[in-house]
Amino acid sequence: MTSEFREQLYIGGAWVPPDSGDRIEVENPYTEQVLGHVPAGTAEDVNLAVSAARQAFDGWAGLPLAERGAALSRLHEALAARAADIARTVGQELGTPLKIAQAVQAGLPLAVLKGYAELAAQPVTEETIGNSLIVREAAGVVGAITPWNYPLHQVVAKVGAALAAGCTVVLKPSELTPLVAFLLFDAAHEAGLPPGVLNLVTGTGPVVGAALAGHPDVDLISFTGSTATGRAITHAAADRIAKVSLELGGKSANLILEDADLVKAVKVGVGNAFLNSGQTCTAWTRMLVHRSHYDEAVELAAKTAAGYTVGDPFDPATRLGPLVSAGQRERVRGFIERAQARLVAGGLDAPVPATGHFVAPTVFADVDPDSELAQEEVFGPVLSIIPFDSDDEAVAIANNSKYGLAGAVWGSDERALAVARRLRTGAVDVNGGAFNPFAPFGGYKQSGIGRELGRYGLEEFQQVKAIQR
Ligand code: NAD
Repeated sequence: MTSEFREQLYIGGAWVPPDSGDRIEVENPYTEQVLGHVPAGTAEDVNLAVSAARQAFDGWAGLPLAERGAALSRLHEALAARAADIARTVGQELGTPLKIAQAVQAGLPLAVLKGYAELAAQPVTEETIGNSLIVREAAGVVGAITPWNYPLHQVVAKVGAALAAGCTVVLKPSELTPLVAFLLFDAAHEAGLPPGVLNLVTGTGPVVGAALAGHPDVDLISFTGSTATGRAITHAAADRIAKVSLELGGKSANLILEDADLVKAVKVGVGNAFLNSGQTCTAWTRMLVHRSHYDEAVELAAKTAAGYTVGDPFDPATRLGPLVSAGQRERVRGFIERAQARLVAGGLDAPVPATGHFVAPTVFADVDPDSELAQEEVFGPVLSIIPFDSDDEAVAIANNSKYGLAGAVWGSDERALAVARRLRTGAVDVNGGAFNPFAPFGGYKQSGIGRELGRYGLEEFQQVKAIQR
C-alpha cells in the first residue's frame, strides 16, 4: 500500500480526492505516535459514493452467479496476498498482539471471505408454496458502518455477504482504525471488481456515518458498534423505512457448573474475557461459578490474570496489548474505580508500561449481579466473578442482562447443553466448542437485530419475493 492511498477515497472504481482537505489522525495506541492520516469525508463524498453504488447495482445484481463468485474469489486471493500487512496494520492501529492479529485479525476475515466467494457461486434457494414461487433477490445499496475492535473482520462480514447477495456497498470504517480497510480496497482494485460495486468513505460517525444512515438512496444499513449508536442509526433509517441489521454490545456469561472441568473452564474463560484486551463484543465478562468451586476458581482466575504479559504488541511474549485510545482507557478505568467488589487481580495501581493506553488485566470477585460492573459493557480487560447455588440460579443471573450476544457453559455434556438452551443469547459455546465463522452470529435483546456470517449472514442482504402463477 502506498501512503497516498490513505489521502483518498475509493468511489466508482477509482481512488479519488475527497471533497474537503480535512484529515483524521490515526494513532498507534502503544507508541502514542501518529501513524497516518485518512480523509475526513463529508456528506458530499457520501452522495457520490451512494450514487456510484446505485449505478452499479443492476449490473452486479444481474451478474451470473459464477461470475460474481469468481470476482469474490479474486478479491479473496488479492486480500490473502496481503495477510502479513493486515496483521501488522491492525497491530499498529489497534494494538492487538501480532500472533493474535495474524490468527484473528487477518486469518478470520480471509476465511469468511473465502466462504462468501463459494456461497456467491451457489444457486439461490427458491421454493414453491401453493401457487407461489418464492425467490430471493439482492436488497439493494448497502451502507456498512463498522467499529474498531476487529476492524477487517467486521468489514468483511458485511462486505462479503452483501456482495455475495448481489448488493453494492458504501463502507465507512471506524475513524480509530481505518487503515486496514485501505488494504481491502487495494485488493478490490487489483481484483477488478466492477466500478461502484464497493466504495470507501472514511470519516467520523456524526458526519459520514450519519449521512450514510440517513441517505434516501441507501436501502439497508448494516451496523456494528455500540448500542447507543445502533439506536441513533435505527432512528435515522426509520424515517424512510430502510432495513437495518445491527450487531451491538454484549455482557456475556460463562457458566461453570458443579460438574465442570474447573481448571479448563477458568483458564479458557479468562483467555476469552481478555482477548484483544477485552475489546470483544462476545467476551465472557461475567464468570458464574458454582459455590462448591467458587474459592478455587477465584484464586485460579486471579493467578491466570496476573500471569499475563502486558506490553509491546510486536513482542512475541506479549499476551495483552494496550486499549485502542486514551478515551477508551479512561472509560475502563472509570468502571474499575466505581466497582464495589473484591479486587483479586490487576486494578488501577497494578504496574503497566508508562507509554501506551494500558489497563492491567483485572479480576473482581463477589460482584453483585445487578451492579454496574455486571450490567454494563466495560470493553476492557476486566472480569467479574459471581457465585451461584443451582443451575436455575445460574441461568437467572446469566439472563439478567439487557444484552444477549454470547455465552458459555461448562459441565457434563447433557446438562451443559440443557443449560445452553435456556440462555437468551444468539450463541453459546459448550465445553469450549470452537468459534464457527460460518454459523449465524448476532444478538437477542439490545445486542442487535439480524445475523451475520455464513448463509444466515447472506440472507440479511436479500429481499424475498412471492410470484403467483
Ligand atoms: P461506536 O458505536 O462508537 O462506533 C461504531 C461506528 O459507528 C464507527 O464507525 C463510528 O464512526 C460510527 N458512528 C458513530 N456515531 C455515529 C452516528 N451518529 N451515525 C452513524 N454512525 C456513527 O462503537 P465503537 O466504539 O467503534 O465500538 C465499540 C462498541 O461496538 C462496543 O460497545 C462493542 O460491544 C460494539 N461491538 C459490537 C459487535 C457485535 O458484533 N455485536 C462487534 C464489535 C463491537
